[in-house]
Amino acid sequence: MFATVTSDCIECGACEVICPQVFRLNSYEIAEAYMNPVPQDAEKSTKEAAKSCPVAAIILE
Ligand code: SF4
Repeated sequence: MFATVTSDCIECGACEVICPQVFRLNSYEIAEAYMNPVPQDAEKSTKEAAKSCPVAAIILE
């Protein structure tokens, strides 16, 4: 599974809190998915982060 964050991100930080193994705010304070492909043991929390994103900015493939 691959995760990407679109420019719709509003920098709320929720994904980083839910799944720090995959998401982080970068130096511009916009979330990025820095761990691709998503490690198997992080797939559940990655999906949870995507569901929790208030602007649906996390795309999973
Ligand atoms: S949860 Fe969504 S809006 Fe919030 S930082 Fe992550 S990608 Fe951005």
